[in-house]
Amino acid sequence: MKFDELKEKDKKFIAGTYNRFSAEIFEGQGATLRSSDGREYIDFGSGIAVNSFGVNDEEWKNAVIEQLNRVQHACNLYYTRPQAELAEMLCKKTGAKKVFFSNSGAEANECAIKAARKYSFDRYGEGRFRIVTLKNSFHGRTLATLAATGQPAMHRCFKPMLEGFSYADPTFDGVRRQCGEGTCAVMLELIQGESGVNPLDAEEVKKIESFCKKRDILLIIDEVQTGNGRTGKLYAYEHYKISPDIVTTAKGLAGGLPLGATMFFDKTENAFSAGDHGSTFGGNPVVCAGALSILKRLDEKLLLEVQGKGAYMTTHLSRIKNVVRVTGMGLMLGLEITKNARDIAEKCLERGLIVLTAKDKLRLLPPLTIGKGEIDAGLKILNEVLSE
Ligand SMILES: *Cc1c(COP(=O)(O)O)cnc(C)c1O
Repeated sequence: MKFDELKEKDKKFIAGTYNRFSAEIFEGQGATLRSSDGREYIDFGSGIAVNSFGVNDEEWKNAVIEQLNRVQHACNLYYTRPQAELAEMLCKKTGAKKVFFSNSGAEANECAIKAARKYSFDRYGEGRFRIVTLKNSFHGRTLATLAATGQPAMHRCFKPMLEGFSYADPTFDGVRRQCGEGTCAVMLELIQGESGVNPLDAEEVKKIESFCKKRDILLIIDEVQTGNGRTGKLYAYEHYKISPDIVTTAKGLAGGLPLGATMFFDKTENAFSAGDHGSTFGGNPVVCAGALSILKRLDEKLLLEVQGKGAYMTTHLSRIKNVVRVTGMGLMLGLEITKNARDIAEKCLERGLIVLTAKDKLRLLPPLTIGKGEIDAGLKILNEVLSE
């Protein structure tokens, strides 16, 4: 099948929700991807921060295949080793007390929203169900997480929205103004990903944390994108030196397989009891085996490498013509540019580099294991395209 035929088939049979870039991803190795007609791409996207260790990572593949050779699915009525081991490893590495597994970022956040309401219901009864999120946040595409997403333009055609969400300016004062008697939680991305890789101010976050603690308002941190080593710490909340009550993650956790995790810390570990929540696929043993292979290797040494690569890229990116500012941490970088981001991303693609956009910025999320040669080759293309 030629690429034109593939595009035609896709257009004919796939619901038109995606504005795809003109490239086929067929195979690859590390941070280099290939189409079936042999075009090569340096990957500065990781499938949106998902392929943490790139493509065809030997150890990850072996872990997945080993589990596939045993059993591919058990459902959550029974016990499986990879799920329990992954939960234990997550808890040991973060200090979380319990984990709920699902299949995506949106589901991890749905679970957090339900858990926050349940926690509050058990202590305060009905009516304390409101959740404050930030303007320009992104928490997912399901109806609850869309309601949590502070972008009214995305709500417009899907009303009525789920009740109980309000959107604050990204400051302590902004959040405090939105919190009232009925507020059970504040939910934040520490670095807003989809809306342009915008890190929150550390002091503001600290103030939000102590405000929430005093009022028993749960602090939920959405680390769907920032988690799993992406920012040079295992989770970005470590940069902010805060102790969240619930942390959600997904994207990079299983290295390319669908897995969401909602982590409950001290206060919230018993928010759920049997029957309160569930998932057929969540914590599937094959996916958890893949995640174990990733999480096990996200050690101090690798995280320092991510920080080093991020610093190296930031230095070089800041020097490129038409780059106004580089934001982000580790290998989650945003580029404010004087040109149209989609245009630039398309031109990069034509020359063999995959980059993402986020609102009017470029967004770079290379595999954590990307090599120096691949980084330099990608930077060279970005430099050429942006300098034109
Ligand atoms: C991608 C993302 C989500 C949604 O994850 P899905 O797996 O697409 O459901 C939620 N929150 C943040 C911060 C994200 O980046």
